[in-house]
Amino acid sequence: MKWRQGRTSGRVEDRRGVSGGTAAGGGIGVIVIALVGYFVFGISPEQTMQIASQFGGAGSAEQQSGTTGTPEDEAGMFVDVVGTNANDVWNEFLSNYTPPNTVIYTQGTNTGCGYGQAAMGPFYCPADQTVYLDLSFWEEMETRLGASGADFARAYVIAHEFGHHVQTLTGASQRVRQAQQNARSEAESNQYLVMLELQADCYAGVWAANAARVSNGNVLLEAGDLQEGLRTANAIGDDTLQRNAGRQVTPEAFTHGTSAQRQEWLMRGYNTGDPAQCDTFNAL
Ligand SMILES: [Zn+2]
Repeated sequence: MKWRQGRTSGRVEDRRGVSGGTAAGGGIGVIVIALVGYFVFGISPEQTMQIASQFGGAGSAEQQSGTTGTPEDEAGMFVDVVGTNANDVWNEFLSNYTPPNTVIYTQGTNTGCGYGQAAMGPFYCPADQTVYLDLSFWEEMETRLGASGADFARAYVIAHEFGHHVQTLTGASQRVRQAQQNARSEAESNQYLVMLELQADCYAGVWAANAARVSNGNVLLEAGDLQEGLRTANAIGDDTLQRNAGRQVTPEAFTHGTSAQRQEWLMRGYNTGDPAQCDTFNAL
């Protein structure tokens, strides 16, 4: 991936090195950890909201702040470039688009959705409209999950989380939360989550399809990049994660979709470059 000439906007809050804060209410960190085995690659926004509401509501955690700007190191700069580019893409598609906040951190940090732990992987919190990224997850993706370590694989993860922000702006997230509340079983409730997650994958593809155009070629996918993204989508499919964890594959417990579905929706977004083609809610 070519990205070094890409525009930055200095909107990344760097909390690396800021001491981790504490889990408000004492239990959030523990609860979150318990979910991790299942929800690697970003707990879905709905799950983070559920956790937050169980523990005294969103935004109850004590505020922490780092330095906002463009990080000087390569990994931090990459987050700024990809996020800025994603904002440029979504600005074109959504008349009411406003960029999310982006926080990079290590180990743990307080969020509007409760205490965030590195082990959760990247996630988006709707309550404070913030994308939280622990950059050590990149290594985890490679070593533990067998996903790609290529820069486009990382960009896919970032763009997926920006996709959740888009869903908050379009109201899709809120509609899913409502549908989950009316769901008659956990399996049905999980199905709504899968639709939401696959749409975020499709939105990541839409970003990738438009990245070069909105940056005048300064952010560009190169040969092999898409394959790295697909390899990652494959590694983080629910069936593959369950199998690799030595569990039986149970579709009722899926929350993000199968490997095949994640690849398919990423590709659909990429091939069409059009968010209107990402209607997972009617397609599934
Ligand atoms: Zn997600």
